[in-house]
Amino acid sequence: WKNGPKTLPDLLRHAAGHGEATFLVLDGERVSFAAFAAASAHLAEALAGRGIGRGDRVALAMRNLPEFPVAFFAIVSLGAIVVPLNAWWTRGELLFGLKDSGAKLLLCDAERWDVLERGAGVDTLVCRAGGTVPEGSALEALIGPPSSWAALPPKPLPDVAIEPDDHATIFYTSGTTGKPKGALGTHRSSVTNVMSSAYAAAAKHMRRGEEPPEPTPKSTLLTIPLFHVTACNARMMISLYAGYKIVLTRKWDPTEAFRLIERERITHAGGVPAIAWSLIEHPERKNHDLSSLEAIAYGGAPAAPELVRKIKEMTGCEPGSGWGMTETSGTVTIHGAEDYLHRPESCGPPVPVAELRIMSLDGEREMPVGEDGELWVKGPMVVEGYWNDADATAETFKEGWLKTGDVARLDEEGFCTIVDRAKDVIIRGGENIYSIEVENCLYEHPGVVEACVVPLPHRTLGEEPAAAVFLAEGQHTTEAELRAWTAERLAAFKVPVAIRTRKAPLPRNANGKVLKPVVRAELAQELGRGEGAG
Ligand code: ATP
Ligand code: MG
Repeated sequence: WKNGPKTLPDLLRHAAGHGEATFLVLDGERVSFAAFAAASAHLAEALAGRGIGRGDRVALAMRNLPEFPVAFFAIVSLGAIVVPLNAWWTRGELLFGLKDSGAKLLLCDAERWDVLERGAGVDTLVCRAGGTVPEGSALEALIGPPSSWAALPPKPLPDVAIEPDDHATIFYTSGTTGKPKGALGTHRSSVTNVMSSAYAAAAKHMRRGEEPPEPTPKSTLLTIPLFHVTACNARMMISLYAGYKIVLTRKWDPTEAFRLIERERITHAGGVPAIAWSLIEHPERKNHDLSSLEAIAYGGAPAAPELVRKIKEMTGCEPGSGWGMTETSGTVTIHGAEDYLHRPESCGPPVPVAELRIMSLDGEREMPVGEDGELWVKGPMVVEGYWNDADATAETFKEGWLKTGDVARLDEEGFCTIVDRAKDVIIRGGENIYSIEVENCLYEHPGVVEACVVPLPHRTLGEEPAAAVFLAEGQHTTEAELRAWTAERLAAFKVPVAIRTRKAPLPRNANGKVLKPVVRAELAQELGRGEGAG
């Protein structure tokens, strides 16, 4: 690793060495590593000409287009800070992101340009707008469309001295528990993903006492948005380093995913657990040749042990998972192979550069092995703090440790199990109920495709658990059956007082996380249970 990339421009120069191998595929567009590196360098020069330099924030708001990674690397190569905004955001939310980050320039696609009603109050470059933007605002005027990048002459990156601890990124958290916060990352925090994944690949073999084999070409079906760290830092950086192909999709569509896996001979798919479920359970799967697929991996949200078993049984692929947060720039734990099949409730051991600690909820003492407490993380992947939010930074970051807000436990061998978000733990008359444990029990029921457990207010007990489940097609399981199922498997106090079946999948945010507050409000209304009820 000593000679490996330390900064994002290092990584880009390394990636250019993969030459004509395909890096990005979107529909009919194919971009090689060499073309990608050339387009990034040409755009960096153009942005420098537009006045972008060290420390400036440049926002990115687009779907998973090849222009995204090109813009990302052009920006960070200038020592500027890239601010990927959530492409699902409304106009107001996009304007918040631009204002909060103090962006000097916005690079967006035509759809975001429309959402922004063709003006965001900052200098803007728009891609794929087909001549409908003001003179000088088309990204294509600077570097052409992706199909033309192969013809760009190679160009060295601008001569800007960049250190590993220079600021590089502001990624916003998913906003699952409140307003999204901007996590201020460095070149080091992003690039750490490369080393972590290389180690995880080797560790799998080392545990079995084998020599790691020569890596073979891999390809990833990217189903998650590049404005999130899992896709951008973890998946993209790993592919750039190793020379893997990334196949982009416009939106999550299982049928389209199967078609792409077949056509592009994809080896790695997944994203978030909900996507993994639909990859294995969708009826269309049987109509496609998916023999190229080696692994189905996911993270970002709790995955039921049932999913791990089903992936292995139904597809023969290797299940993989990991845990991470926006504040950790990507991956902190990685799980896979036999380890995962043997410990399907865990999200794996930490990567070697990460230190994990389980602390009492008051932060006063470290918990013994096997006991639950708040997970704290330290290591080069942890960001410096929140952009523009000193209070939240002081609350969450303490002497190099990140207080994750997740309740977890570690076993004797250092494997980590996330038991719940601290904010999602349901406290029923003083008894703690981990919503994930009850959800996992519901997932074991053959009819259940999605499950969500939330608290309902109760006058004397404080809270009690209730559930919403989405059933597989053609399933007619009743609420009474599901309650009996959980009652047979869980302590009585954990059994949801109501289990409502829904006709539609659970509501999720752009990162595939269930919006528990929305489910909670729906259930409370349906059951006539507002605050103080019961
Ligand atoms: P916000 O912080 O804005 O409320 P968020 O926490 O969902 O949103 P992210 O940084 O995208 O924003 O997500 C990190 C969280 O996702 C973790 O704190 C954890 O609760 C959850 N998570 C990530 N990976 C896993 C996993 N493997 N198992 C369980 N939960 C996970
Ligand atoms: Mg969070």
